[in-house]
Amino acid sequence: PPPNELKAKAPVQLKSTKDKEHPPPPPNNVTEPPSSDRKEGAVYQVGKLLGKGGFAICYDGKLAGTSKRYALKIVKCQMPTKMEQKFQTELQIHSKMRHQNIVQFHRAFTFESCTYLVLELCPNGSLMDMVKRRKGLTEPEVRFYGIQIAGAIKYMHAKGIIHRDLKMGNIFLDRYMNAKIGDFGLAALLLTGKDMQIMRRTTLCGTPNYIAPEILEKGKKGHDHMVDIWSLGIIIFAMLTSKPPFQSSTTDEIYRRARDRDYEWPNPETSQKYISHEAKDLVATMLQDADMRPEPDAIVQHPFFIAGHLPLAADMTTKLREAPPENS
Ligand code: ADP
Repeated sequence: PPPNELKAKAPVQLKSTKDKEHPPPPPNNVTEPPSSDRKEGAVYQVGKLLGKGGFAICYDGKLAGTSKRYALKIVKCQMPTKMEQKFQTELQIHSKMRHQNIVQFHRAFTFESCTYLVLELCPNGSLMDMVKRRKGLTEPEVRFYGIQIAGAIKYMHAKGIIHRDLKMGNIFLDRYMNAKIGDFGLAALLLTGKDMQIMRRTTLCGTPNYIAPEILEKGKKGHDHMVDIWSLGIIIFAMLTSKPPFQSSTTDEIYRRARDRDYEWPNPETSQKYISHEAKDLVATMLQDADMRPEPDAIVQHPFFIAGHLPLAADMTTKLREAPPENS
C-alpha cells in the first residue's frame, strides 16, 4: 500500500452485534473523577438510551447542577487489543475536531472500568432514520444537508483526516435538525505538509526504488481522501431516493455494481419522485474515478446547489422533525 498514509491495510471490521460485547447498563449517576481542568470532578445523571453501536452504548446524560445535556457514549474497557487500538485512534482524531457539522467531543473519562465519552447530544436520531421515515427528501432539503456534509468533509481533509466510513447512519441530527458527523471509528490520519517533507527527506536518503512516484512529487496530493467524496455521492443519491444506488443482497454484488457504476434513478413514469438533471449530474461526477471527483468547494459550486432553492435552517427544524410529508 502507498506509504503516504497510516491506514496501511483495509479497515478491520470489529463490529459486533452480540449483546455481551456491550458494557452493562450504567448506574443512574456517573461520576467523572477530578482532573486538572475540573478539580471537583462532575456527576452525570443518566437518562434514556439513545442507541447501541458495535461495541458502544449511548445514553442521554445531564450534567448535575446544570441544565446541560450530552450524549454519554460508553465503551467497555476490556476490549480486544485490536479494538482498543481502533478506539484510541478514534478518540485522538475525534477530540481534535471542532466544526458545526461534526458531533462535538467534550471529554473522556473512566468510571467503573468503562470509558465514557461526553459528546454533543443529537436527540433527533440519524439521517438514515429520518430519510427512511420520510421516504426520501426534497431537493432543497438535500441541498441543505449536502452543503453541511461537504463543509465537514472540507474541514476534516484540511486537518489531514479521512473519515472513510461516511454513511447516513453515522450522521446524527441535533435539536435544530442540523447534520453532525459522529463516529470516527475508521478514520485515518493522512500525512500531509510537514510530515510529508520529513518523510521525503528520510526516504530519499535510502533507496527510492520502492517509492510510488506520487509520494516523491512535491505538492502533489494523493487521492485517498476522495473516498469521502464517493461516500457523499452515495449519501446524496440515498437522500433523494431513500435507497443507496448499489443496494444488493450480497456484498460481492454491491462491489460489482459499484465498480461498474451500475445504478438507476427511479423511473419518473412509475415513481412519484422527480429528480432533476442537475442532481443526477452531481451524483455522477462524485462517483467518477478518484482523481476526477470534485473537492468539497467544487461540489457546492455545482449547478444543483447554485441554481436551486436553499431552505432556511429554521424552516428545516420545524418541518423535518415531523413524521412523513402529507403526500407519502
Ligand atoms: P459505534 O461506534 O459502536 O458504532 P455509535 O457511535 O454508532 O457506536 O453509537 C451508537 C448509537 O448511539 C448510534 O447509533 C446512535 O443511536 C447513538 N449515538 C451516538 N452518538 C450520539 C450522539 N452524539 N447523540 C445522540 N445519539 C448518539
